[in-house]
Amino acid sequence: MTKMQRWSIFGLAITALPLLGVVLFFTLTGPQDLSKFPPSETSPYLLPWPDGGCCLCIQGVRGIVSHRGASQFAYDFYMPIASDICAARAGKVVKVVQHHDGNGRKWPNNAIVIDHGDGTRAYYAHIKRAGASVSVGDIVEQRQVIAASGNVGNSMMPHLHFHITDGGRTVPISFQDVKKDRGVPRMFKMYTSGGSTAITDR
Ligand SMILES: [Zn+2]
Repeated sequence: MTKMQRWSIFGLAITALPLLGVVLFFTLTGPQDLSKFPPSETSPYLLPWPDGGCCLCIQGVRGIVSHRGASQFAYDFYMPIASDICAARAGKVVKVVQHHDGNGRKWPNNAIVIDHGDGTRAYYAHIKRAGASVSVGDIVEQRQVIAASGNVGNSMMPHLHFHITDGGRTVPISFQDVKKDRGVPRMFKMYTSGGSTAITDR
């Protein structure tokens, strides 16, 4: 093999590697079948921050960092510490954990859990220490501020982790104010909340 040939192979590898990374990224992360998600138009969920605010989705469905298995239908939104977190849907507060501080691998999370009365519950995690503005038993409206965001628990950067469960596993949901991709937020995309036409909850 000549020196020139060796250099060409090297050059090809350098070009192909990022491309392979991109291909792997898109096949290994993100929703596999959007038709399994309820359509956004009839979704009872709004993006969990104040109307008109904009947030970056830093990890979505089947996110390669931690949204796998039973946690696959979860969303992480970047939020500077102490940003307002709003209820994505009306319900009853059934759990508030806000005494933890600090972050790290397997570090205990602060979180708020809201029961929607139909067997589903929303989970809002990594909130600031003493950052909850609701208590267990409170009835909250959609878009009501429930907490200040943080970076507490199993978290690498300030963000909100949000998912819905049916009591066990996370379930696929969409957001009424996400207009593309059937209402399913995607990793590394920005989303602006807008909920003036919110569907009235049952
Ligand atoms: Zn997460």
